[in-house]
Amino acid sequence: MPTDPKRCIFCRIIHGEVPSTLVYQDYRALAFNDIKPAAPTHVLVVPRQHIEALAGTSPEQEALLGHLVRVASQVAQQAGIERSGFRVLINQGKDAGQMIDHLHLHVLGGRPLGKMA
Ligand code: AMP
Ligand code: ZN
Repeated sequence: MPTDPKRCIFCRIIHGEVPSTLVYQDYRALAFNDIKPAAPTHVLVVPRQHIEALAGTSPEQEALLGHLVRVASQVAQQAGIERSGFRVLINQGKDAGQMIDHLHLHVLGGRPLGKMA
């Protein structure tokens, strides 16, 4: 089921209707701390535009997707984990446990993360 952008929790954060701890923003993207951090640094990078998921993105959205990845790197630098290392993760769909249907990149670091792949 498509999410109604008016009800989407991340859209509500973007519109300032729900509080968040912002760590970065520009005209295309926003980054804020995850409410339930899985690591000492756990930031979510989201596009201002309501995009449901990575799957189904279009060639026209390539530049935006690239921008989000670069913002993730910038957030890691700001958090001081660029040298120690960090992970950028997108959960896509049910098997990956995607809970919020507004595209988001997790930036995780500040401790050894173990290897999944
Ligand atoms: P995913 O499982 O990839 O959909 O991740 C959703 C993430 O959003 C989880 O890590 C949640 O802890 C996080 N989250 C949910 N609601 C909020 C919120 N209001 N502010 C910040 N993070 C949130
Ligand atoms: Zn949204």
